[in-house]
Amino acid sequence: MQFLSRFKHLINDMVHPAKNPDLQRAQCIALGRQIPLMYSILIVASWMLAANFYPLAPVWLTLLMPMLLTAAFMVRLIYWLRSGTAIDDQNAIPGVLHRINWVAAILAAGILAWAAALFPYGGPFLQGHVTFFLALSAISTMFCLIQARAAAMTVALVAVTGALILIIWSGNATIMAMGLNIVLAVAAAMFLVTIQGRNFERMVAAQIRARQREEDQRRLLRMVDDMPIAVLTVDPEKLVVTYANETSIRTMRQIQDQLALEQEALVGTSIDVFEHLPHGARAALSDPAGLPYHTRMAVGPEVIDLQITGVWAEDGAYIGPMLSWAIVTKEVEAEQHIRWLAHHDTLTRLQNRARFREQLDEVLETPAGPISLLFVDLDGFKLVNDTMGHVVGDEVLTSVAARLHEICTEQQAAIGRLGGDEFAIILPSGDEERVNQFCLRLISSLSLPFRLEDQRSVEIGASIGIATAPRHGKRSKELLSRADIALSVAKIAGKGTFRRFEPEMERQVQERVALEAELREAIRNRRGLYVFYQPILDIASGRVTAREALVRWHLPQRGWISPSYFIPIAEQSGLIRELGLFVLEQACSDALQWADGARVAVNVSPGQLGQGTIANAVLSILLRTGLAANRLEVEVTETALLNEEASGIGDLRHLRAMGVRVALDDFGTGYSSLAHLRAFPFDKIKIDGSFVRDALTRPDCAAVVGAVADLGRRLGVTTVAEGVETEEHLKLVTREGCVEVQGHYFGSPEPEGRDIGEVSRLTASA
Ligand code: C2E
Ligand code: CA
Ligand code: CA
Repeated sequence: MQFLSRFKHLINDMVHPAKNPDLQRAQCIALGRQIPLMYSILIVASWMLAANFYPLAPVWLTLLMPMLLTAAFMVRLIYWLRSGTAIDDQNAIPGVLHRINWVAAILAAGILAWAAALFPYGGPFLQGHVTFFLALSAISTMFCLIQARAAAMTVALVAVTGALILIIWSGNATIMAMGLNIVLAVAAAMFLVTIQGRNFERMVAAQIRARQREEDQRRLLRMVDDMPIAVLTVDPEKLVVTYANETSIRTMRQIQDQLALEQEALVGTSIDVFEHLPHGARAALSDPAGLPYHTRMAVGPEVIDLQITGVWAEDGAYIGPMLSWAIVTKEVEAEQHIRWLAHHDTLTRLQNRARFREQLDEVLETPAGPISLLFVDLDGFKLVNDTMGHVVGDEVLTSVAARLHEICTEQQAAIGRLGGDEFAIILPSGDEERVNQFCLRLISSLSLPFRLEDQRSVEIGASIGIATAPRHGKRSKELLSRADIALSVAKIAGKGTFRRFEPEMERQVQERVALEAELREAIRNRRGLYVFYQPILDIASGRVTAREALVRWHLPQRGWISPSYFIPIAEQSGLIRELGLFVLEQACSDALQWADGARVAVNVSPGQLGQGTIANAVLSILLRTGLAANRLEVEVTETALLNEEASGIGDLRHLRAMGVRVALDDFGTGYSSLAHLRAFPFDKIKIDGSFVRDALTRPDCAAVVGAVADLGRRLGVTTVAEGVETEEHLKLVTREGCVEVQGHYFGSPEPEGRDIGEVSRLTASA
């Protein structure tokens, strides 16, 4: 069976010569070397046979035929000598190979015919020579044509056929034995030719593959060499650079000063030339298990990006590590800058809200003890920004950041700008005393004047809210909102102070929010709001000179709400403007009904001043109600002058120019600045009730009452003592020289006639 399939192969090979052009070319080249040898053997052997037969056979057989054959051999010999090993035209090769078959068949037939013709002329010796000649010719031809298997087989068939004919013809036992030997030898040669031919094909194919691989590798290397990425290969055992592409050498030149290395010497150098090669990179270089590996490392001032990948052969064998690397200093700087921008406020260079939040989260996640979160809000910054411009505003914010930064750095506190004029600080301490001291320092530092570039000076202040972790919360959201609540309480308490969060504050804030909404509703619907009046008397005559209008608010579910509670809410929410107009209108129209012609005093909050609108509003109310301007008195506190000093006073001047009287309320509390008394010509000074109440037991309070009364007398300003509750109070303020009095002793705030019924019903139901 095996033999049969071999035979089939053989026939197949003969019928279908090699199609592979590379193989055909290799066959041509091999034949080009062998065929001249073959023809040389044939020429020599033919003439030796011819010489032996010369005396016996006719001349056409011993001279003419050998000459003819020799001529044919020579033509082919010269052809192969000239072009055999150097056939350049690939297209010609199949033709050349094909031709070999025909030429071999014809020449083999020619030789056989000549030998057969000579045979009868010789004796047994010479007949043996003919047989030997045929065997030699056939076997040498077959081996020389080993790469042209079809031709070799043709020769073999012709030789075997010839040998058999001669054997039968001779009838000689020796010849017959020789002929049989020839058949066997040719058969063996056929077998060898087949095997060798196939080996040759395999060898050529292997050569072609090897050449291809070499070519691929060369192309790859050329590609790697020209690549814009710096590539190095390293011996995985010795960790020595085995190859460096062009870009690598160029890149190396840029950092040469840092490496103490000649760039030419890169190949063959230990990888330790990169001094700060991370340990992981070293491991990855010697063990492919750690691949791919990526790292960035510093080489002097430069940053190097290093990637290590493995190179594996087609059969899966590990060849070694490949390093691609680049100097990424600029990219890293750009990345860092972008990251910086994402995390910082460009004006103050402090952390921004997002980054501060992150940091707070980090600190809270890994608590190393209690921390305090401080919310710092600037007092009076809005005014600076609005009146002096944003450039000045920015300048002040930058200086604020610098002062905060200085103190915080000293205390190892982190700081961020949350936006606008709000800053936040993480102080690594929960110790109340230390935090208080820190807050006092911040407040006093921020209260110092800021000198601007144009030499002007600006004063602002700061309020602070504090929340402490873990006491007031363990998560940033909770802590931030609680510090914010404490801040708002600090702001209400009067600016320039700090407050620590207390649970009660949260409830208060919620309540304030709810109350604000209710108040807005009440003002819009004019529901539950009443104006009460309290008389102010001239001590000397006992006559009511004025009545102070005091607003009252009643909520069905909550009863009467104190103005000291809801007025600050109205002031903070801006509702005070509408509420103030309501009181003004009510007071003016009520005063018109009073038979004694007393003036009406209306409280005006700082928030109602400074916009340049109050004078017009008052004028239109006076015109609408028909009340004379000189029967209206407005009461303002010193804060109205402080906050928006210039424009606040401007509004008061307008009112005064219209004939409206202006009183300074609550004098003695807060600033009690004589400068304010000079800054504006008040018609009246109201001494705060707390002084009057305390004057009986505290001589210093009595002295203040006396001093203000004295000052009033000298400035020609009426002085009113508030909070007179008893006869003793009255006696004291009379003795100290006050002109007018107000207090429960003479009458508490009461509703107007039209409201009395409703108010008493509401009070009774409460
Ligand atoms: P204020 O302007 O100092 O008003 C005088 C306050 O003293 C009133 O409190 C009055 O009821 C109270 N009072 C009067 N006599 C005595 C007394 O003998 N002893 C004591 N202990 N207190 C006395 P009220 O009505 O609670 O108002 C509180 C504050 O609310 C006012 O203080 C004023 O600043 C503000 N306010 C009241 N109504 C208005 C308003 O319509 N507009 C504005 N902007 N503020 C108002
Ligand atoms: Ca008042
Ligand atoms: Ca008062």
